Amino acid sequence: MSKATDELFKNVISHAKEYGFVFQSSEIYDGLSAVYDYGQNGSELKNNLKTYWWKAMVQMHENIVGIDAAIFMHPTTWKASGHVDGFSDPMIDNKDSKKRYRADQLLEDKIAKYEADGKTDKAAALQAAMDDALKAENLPRLKELIVEQEIACPVSGTRNWTDVRQFNLMFSTQMGAVADDADVVYLRPETAQGIFVNYLNVQKSGRMKIPFGIAQIGKAFRNEVIARQFIIRMREFEQMEMQFFVRPGTQKEWFNQWKEERLKWHLALSIDPAKYRFHEHTKLAHYADAAYDIEFEFPFGFKEVEGIHSRTDFDLSQHQKFSGKKMQYFDPEVNPETNQPYGNYIPYVIETSIGLDRLFLLTLVSAYEEEDLSTAEKQDSRTVLRLHPCLAPVKAAIFPLTKKDGLPEKAREIMDKLKLDYNIQYEEKDAIGKRYRRQDAIGTPFCITVDHQTLEDDTVTIRYRDTMSQERVAAADLERIIGNLVSW
Ligand code: ATP
Repeated sequence: MSKATDELFKNVISHAKEYGFVFQSSEIYDGLSAVYDYGQNGSELKNNLKTYWWKAMVQMHENIVGIDAAIFMHPTTWKASGHVDGFSDPMIDNKDSKKRYRADQLLEDKIAKYEADGKTDKAAALQAAMDDALKAENLPRLKELIVEQEIACPVSGTRNWTDVRQFNLMFSTQMGAVADDADVVYLRPETAQGIFVNYLNVQKSGRMKIPFGIAQIGKAFRNEVIARQFIIRMREFEQMEMQFFVRPGTQKEWFNQWKEERLKWHLALSIDPAKYRFHEHTKLAHYADAAYDIEFEFPFGFKEVEGIHSRTDFDLSQHQKFSGKKMQYFDPEVNPETNQPYGNYIPYVIETSIGLDRLFLLTLVSAYEEEDLSTAEKQDSRTVLRLHPCLAPVKAAIFPLTKKDGLPEKAREIMDKLKLDYNIQYEEKDAIGKRYRRQDAIGTPFCITVDHQTLEDDTVTIRYRDTMSQERVAAADLERIIGNLVSW
């Protein structure tokens, strides 16, 4: 990361705190590592992002419905899904520095460094060696590579590492008052399994016909070995997932369709398309027959924001095996090749899984601008969040020009009409210029000023965030003007 982008990213993080978007969790106790709270503006922005996703996925698709499954699930769920045995990262400690690392991450950092230094051959060789070791779950080989590369502590003591061991990422806790091994429950590490275990319930109660989808927004928990890059890698985070159930044999088609549709959804947020790219997984998880990530270029480089996975019938088959309940679907449609109905099968699944917190950060860094407004006469600048108006935490701010002459009452009267539909903020403190700057900093698209003329002719000044231009409009027109830009 260059010095300028590093600086900019640090500014975004402090801006997020200063303006009530993101706080470190339990900050008065010096914080809890990799856990964050969303403040008054952050929670509005986050809710708007959820609404945007929910509307696009559930409301706009007749064949997709939404659910809200519990975070706690029967422990067998995680046996069936493979998480109890396989959801782990290789971990290593440096005995000298007493620091803990993810073994693969250490090597990835080294690969990135070789690439940045133009040593592409070295990077490729290390990548191949690491891939082989990971694939074969050869933990001693991973350690060997780390020692060879003298990562993290390139001078003395670099060979003083512990062995590499697997570390399960699920948080566990006890259910009920009596401690007993049988009562161990997990905080879900993904929302997807809540959908799979409800597949039969939703299919039957909703009389869903294949192809159909089930969507869900909810918290997930992972005891990440190391936390990085602000809200990119958290121990408690939120996912927006959709599992789309299809006829076996059609999964490739649906996979391609969802891949394109999800990218379009991102681009509709008016963010620079050059910042997005697809990344194809070459090492597929045991349950997948295709997988792509949608990556976004953050100030610290490209990072996965969303995964689109073709999960075959793995999850439903596993739940059928472990629960003894038939996960089959009867497809009455006639197969033109056999002239017979397709009949009974376990559906295949295409998953789209996006991290809400990463989407939040993507939105924030894309919107953030330190704009130079200097003229020949004077130096000036502002920090503005150029958020899409639909996403802005506050849609409009209302300012009485002064605190007297009936202007506050008039301003509140206008606000009362608008607040039924929009999140509106009233501000009367400080000069108008300062109030504009405060609203720019949280991305409010409109500021409305009530002055003495308003009392005479019911017109107000509306000032637009992006252009800073102002115009006089009838107060009665405000609803239409705001509505035109902020409705979905
Ligand atoms: P990564 O490789 O970055 O750990 P992943 O491949 O494990 O991510 P998935 O299991 O596919 O991620 O989860 C889907 C989405 O959930 C990711 O694209 C990401 O946006 C989000 N996500 C996963 N882990 C975290 C985390 N620890 N903190 C915040 N978001 C996360």
